[in-house]
Amino acid sequence: MPPILGYMFDLATTKVHDEKRQGEAYAPFEKDPNTFSRRFYIESYGCQMNFSDSEIVASILTAEGFGATRNFQEADLILLNTCSIREKAEQTVRKRLTEFRKLKKGRPSTLIGVLGCMAERLKAKFLEEEKLVDLVVGPDAYRTLPQLITEADSGQKGVNVLLSRDETYADISPVRLNSNGITAFVSIMRGCNNMCSFCVVPFTRGRERSRDAQSIVRECQELFDSGYKEVTLLGQNVDSYYFVPEAGGKPVTFASLMEMVALISPLLRVRFSTSHPKDITDEVLFTMAKYENICKYIHLPLQSGSTRVLQLMNRSYTREWYMAKVDRIREILPGCGISSDVIAGFCTETQEDHRHTLDVMEYAQYDMSYMFFYSERPGTLAQRRYKDDIPEEVKKRRLQEIVELQGKLSHQSNKKDVDKTFTVLIEADSKKTDKDWMGRSSQNKVVVFPKGNRNHKPGDYVQVKVTDCTQATLLGELV
Ligand code: SAM
Ligand code: SF4
Repeated sequence: MPPILGYMFDLATTKVHDEKRQGEAYAPFEKDPNTFSRRFYIESYGCQMNFSDSEIVASILTAEGFGATRNFQEADLILLNTCSIREKAEQTVRKRLTEFRKLKKGRPSTLIGVLGCMAERLKAKFLEEEKLVDLVVGPDAYRTLPQLITEADSGQKGVNVLLSRDETYADISPVRLNSNGITAFVSIMRGCNNMCSFCVVPFTRGRERSRDAQSIVRECQELFDSGYKEVTLLGQNVDSYYFVPEAGGKPVTFASLMEMVALISPLLRVRFSTSHPKDITDEVLFTMAKYENICKYIHLPLQSGSTRVLQLMNRSYTREWYMAKVDRIREILPGCGISSDVIAGFCTETQEDHRHTLDVMEYAQYDMSYMFFYSERPGTLAQRRYKDDIPEEVKKRRLQEIVELQGKLSHQSNKKDVDKTFTVLIEADSKKTDKDWMGRSSQNKVVVFPKGNRNHKPGDYVQVKVTDCTQATLLGELV
């Protein structure tokens, strides 16, 4: 099986799968004056859902009296929140576990745990065969962590990889880890029912379920009250959000949920990630159009531009249908940013299928894309039904062409913004200098501009005129 390369173009947008954050360690309470009897270290891999889950885990551990550390050498509990989406992600985690294992030799009381998507798939291997870990906890079992830690303390193996049909952690207020204090992710649903044939998510994260709408609105309100200015509503397929209140009343759709959050305050920006093209309805698009504070940006993963391949992928749309959806977005939301996920070299993909992918990318004029080559995942429909028959060098060449095309499209899209003025939410100092601010437009483009002698601060909305651009960034000046 060939290793997967994940290329990303815009390195600074809201990430679905942020290569730069892979393996990030959190220590939200480093400056906490309280002393904790035990310390935990947590490292996260994979998509934003996993990073958000780490915040739930941190919240559960804090309630148990654990304090966080960014130095695994001093941790009593080392946790890895893992990803199975591509083979490379799994290899990275395995390497890391071997390093932690060495540390445990010198400090046997240290517990090592694997959380998240690799848990179910590799529990027997990690626990019994390779004896790499003491705890294995699946994405729906984090509430049981305290008991599992007690079991592991007494020398037993703490395992719970049961998937649930109703766990949404609705009542747990996540501890915001490594936050800039301005933008936050709010999980609105878990799991996925879509069964795209290449994807392992339905197996590792279970059936789709929507979180109580009131608890989402409450969390967003609390974030706004504590100074946050932007929330991203998070799920594998947010447009199929559907919550039926227990007490009766009207079911809440994704469009109505977005509206409820948008109404918290015009000063709170609302984003969402990710949408399956089949579910993004006119109702969603009109709701986006109605509220200024719902950001005009849609991540609309294409995967392939060939109808034949899309059918094998079980994506339930055709190339023409997808293109018509792009037209509809542009009609209802002129100027809306659109980004995509693209997979090169799926089973049986011909040069002509690949050409179709490039064509649809040109048609859609994506502002940015996450681009991968196909990595066969055990247990998926594609692994059971089809042969992973595209040679690695062909996958790589096609991916390279996709990456190059996206580079061109991103640059074109940014050039079109030169001389325009955008409302930008300031997030932080720019990475290069503290003399510049970095923020984002509604379309999710990163904008960098000099602070000048004005007293702005992160969280302020400012008007910025774009004067220049690179492939990944708009450069501008305060108006
Ligand atoms: N639920 C989201 C959706 O449908 O857009 C995305 C979930 S997945 C974490 C993110 C992306 O990883 C997918 O859109 C797909 O492009 C890519 N991906 C998933 N499985 C893959 C595989 N086996 N090989 C290569 N890329 C894959
Ligand atoms: Fe995977 Fe498809 Fe679900 Fe996205 S929608 S998580 S690609 S099965």
